[in-house]
Amino acid sequence: MYNQKSFELGSNRSCIRELFEYGCRRAAEVGRENVYDYSLGNPSVPAPAGVDQAIRDILADTSSVAIHGYTSAVGDLATRQAIADDLNDRYNTGVKPENLFITCGAAPGLTAVFRSLATENAELLAVAPFFPEYRPFAEGAGLKFRVVPADIPDFQIKLDALEAMLSENTAAIILNSPNNPSGVVYTRETLQKLAALLLRKAEQFGHPIYIVADEPYRELTYGGVETPFLPNIYPNTIVCYSYSKSLSLPGERIGYVYVPEAAADSKQLYAAIAGSSRVAGHVCAPSLLQKVIARCAKLRPDLEAYDRNRRTLYDALTSYGYEMAKPDGAFYLFIKAPGGDSQAFSDKAKEKDLLVVPGTDFGCPGYFRICYCVTPEMIEKSLPVFKALIEE
Ligand code: PLP
Repeated sequence: MYNQKSFELGSNRSCIRELFEYGCRRAAEVGRENVYDYSLGNPSVPAPAGVDQAIRDILADTSSVAIHGYTSAVGDLATRQAIADDLNDRYNTGVKPENLFITCGAAPGLTAVFRSLATENAELLAVAPFFPEYRPFAEGAGLKFRVVPADIPDFQIKLDALEAMLSENTAAIILNSPNNPSGVVYTRETLQKLAALLLRKAEQFGHPIYIVADEPYRELTYGGVETPFLPNIYPNTIVCYSYSKSLSLPGERIGYVYVPEAAADSKQLYAAIAGSSRVAGHVCAPSLLQKVIARCAKLRPDLEAYDRNRRTLYDALTSYGYEMAKPDGAFYLFIKAPGGDSQAFSDKAKEKDLLVVPGTDFGCPGYFRICYCVTPEMIEKSLPVFKALIEE
């Protein structure tokens, strides 16, 4: 006997992982240099030098075994203080350590928040295109998952469609900006309009509607584009942050949830997040990584390599006739599939050893995603394949 739903989730691998693993098998057959794998969002720039140095310094201190010891479940005070200081410096906002819960990355933060918002009949709205894992996270937490159609071709937020979907049951909206998969950054104007809409509707329904801001790409923007800090626009925002991308540490698992003091039921929500983490088996985030963040919270990624890849791909692909939203952030391009069917396009590309992810699981079947955390050499070699595919 086993849980059928869990069995299904474990058996149906994500399409991104499937493609990535296919790419590894194919590389063993034809050589890594002959496979153009744009599937997985694994950072390709190293962690900043300060991170490596901090790890060495922390490990060099052998005066205490506490380096590897348990911390409090909410996270070390020094870590939370360093994060609060960094956020306050940048956004002139009122973060205190007691508003921060240190997590093993964004994913467990999101699941804890979703579980904390899961009252009877509660719904979570996701704006397409969205990170596919939101669906199992939300449904596993007991929330009904509903998709707001994409705002094609700009991939901002279709506010009229969203408004029509808001109801007494809407607990929250999950937003991800800079966005995976579109690379789009929601503008301040979009967010201000959204905030006004949610305030109006919350008053009508007599309960708050939260925004869950999933922000692993917050610092990954290009050409001076800003990522507005949502709690300063809409206080009922719960931020789920991760250092996976900004400090290139995805396998180490470190991030946080921030519940602003001005959010409705802030203290209760924070306690519920701690409780939801507890039942999911959270004990504490990795102790070593917490100490690293206490020293490195102010470090920023070196974006030059990503930016170069972004510009090369955007310029070349648009010159061949591909259409996409302007990719101002994260490390993805979301491209309209020639012929309109991204699965068919992805299958055709796969025959030429070009791996691109169909948009279906992102809620946009007419688009495909490429992740440009790759080498410039791979990009150069893959461009003729993109050109041939659109010409066919
Ligand atoms: N949210 C988005 C939009 C992501 O792209 C990812 C990872 O790719 C995550 C959350 C999960 O991040 P983490 O590695 O911190 O769990």
